[in-house]
Amino acid sequence: MIFKIGDKKLKVLIVASEVAPYAKTGGLADVCGALPKALLKKGCDVRVIMPLYKEVLHNTRNIKKIQADIYRSDLGHFEKFDLYSHEEGDLTTYFIDNKKFFDRDELYCTSEGDYEDNAQRFAFFSKASLAAVKAIGFKCDIMHLNDWQTALIPMYLKNHLKNDSFYNEIKTLFTIHNLAYHGQFPKEILKEVDIPRHLFNMHDMEFYGKVNFLKSGLLYSDHLSTVSKGYAKEILTEEYGCGLAGVLNLRRDVLRGITNGVDYLQWDPSTDIYLKENFSAEHLHEKIICKKDLIDVVGLNIDINQPLFGIITRLAWQKGLDMFDDICENILRMGAGIVVLGKGEKEIEDKLEQLESAFPGQISVNIKFDNALAHKIEGGSDFFLMPSRYEPCGLNQMYSLRYGTVPVVRATGGLDDVIVDIKENPEKGNGFKFGPAEKEAFLEAVTRAINFYKDKIKFTRLQEKIMKEDYSWDMSADRYIGLYKDICGK
Ligand code: ADP
Repeated sequence: MIFKIGDKKLKVLIVASEVAPYAKTGGLADVCGALPKALLKKGCDVRVIMPLYKEVLHNTRNIKKIQADIYRSDLGHFEKFDLYSHEEGDLTTYFIDNKKFFDRDELYCTSEGDYEDNAQRFAFFSKASLAAVKAIGFKCDIMHLNDWQTALIPMYLKNHLKNDSFYNEIKTLFTIHNLAYHGQFPKEILKEVDIPRHLFNMHDMEFYGKVNFLKSGLLYSDHLSTVSKGYAKEILTEEYGCGLAGVLNLRRDVLRGITNGVDYLQWDPSTDIYLKENFSAEHLHEKIICKKDLIDVVGLNIDINQPLFGIITRLAWQKGLDMFDDICENILRMGAGIVVLGKGEKEIEDKLEQLESAFPGQISVNIKFDNALAHKIEGGSDFFLMPSRYEPCGLNQMYSLRYGTVPVVRATGGLDDVIVDIKENPEKGNGFKFGPAEKEAFLEAVTRAINFYKDKIKFTRLQEKIMKEDYSWDMSADRYIGLYKDICGK
């Protein structure tokens, strides 16, 4: 089906602070890399815009400068910037170049903490994205904004640009990928990022004495969405609302949950370039070669018949790794091996490294960001652990299903939407799930998983079944298009 408004294609600009394969720290990049391609396939005119980080230049060939010295005086503090672009098939991605802000080793923070000028960096990115759409003449129907780094855009549109007719018809959709990240800064930055003083009050962008960028997205965009149906309900509650449940409840009529999809061009074991051997539900035996390879690559000293658990994650409180620390020894004592890949908070990194020193050869801890190893872990593990305290959508549980790597997850957000516990529903079950964010419940689910693994025939049957489940972007892209059309009133 081709989606058009009248006889014109629906024009969508996706604005994001990270987009795969150009630069990535987490799921936001995966989504903003895959959704545009799915929209394009369905006939939308879609473009993407992001900052020109050092990592982008490192990852991308044939990137070209298309305009120099773009400037606007009506957006307050503004620095001239150059605009770059890159074509991948029919998709054009634009990059905002500002060496002072983006030519750095990391995107948002180092292990010492956040970059101190993140407010200025992403206010600039938001303004520059607005300037860029006019500079390239892309009068989009929808600006699809993502997380706090782009949340000032509706505010600039409604205040600074209200007299520029180029922008009058542009509607905004703001997607919450993770409500916990607010983009909160001291009120002293108000002037520097050109937030009008009158918006610094609790009904607008103030949050307990600080400026909260996310509130701009939540309050001033035309529509809101988040990345699963479960999370869309959860964030309206005090428990999951991160202090913003009140604001979200005010806007619940325009909030929708659309579950992310999987980019099977990147995440499919039958074509995955990082695996030692490709495999599929029909040729599952080759998965054992990937398991052997993974055991070698990460230096584990376990037998191929022992169950192997994988973890790939940002190391943040959200991901429940403290519960994992508490039960790690129990898992190993049940005869399993574990491989962890992650990067993030220093304290969590240190604890994991202590576990590796205590149980060498049984658990391998890899503190880094490594896409190739992430694919090998999905390919070579028997189980995948996600004990998240909250999980807006989560992608690895869906990747794991396709790789026949049985997920063991906490029942929250997108994990709860996607994973059905085998005990509760033997026919539809596709993993193991636990409720309370407590180590006992987590251990109970892991124990059930290990016992299930002992029956090889049953386990193989489960793998074959889950590998055939389909979480492609096709349906999610239709839902986004339906929403874009609603927002545009067509
Ligand atoms: P979040 O966005 O909260 O980090 P998601 O499950 O939505 O979590 O997405 C995480 C994405 O980032 C997945 O593609 C996962 O494989 C990837 N990822 C996370 N940490 C690492 C890492 N250390 N190395 C490689 N990939 C990682």
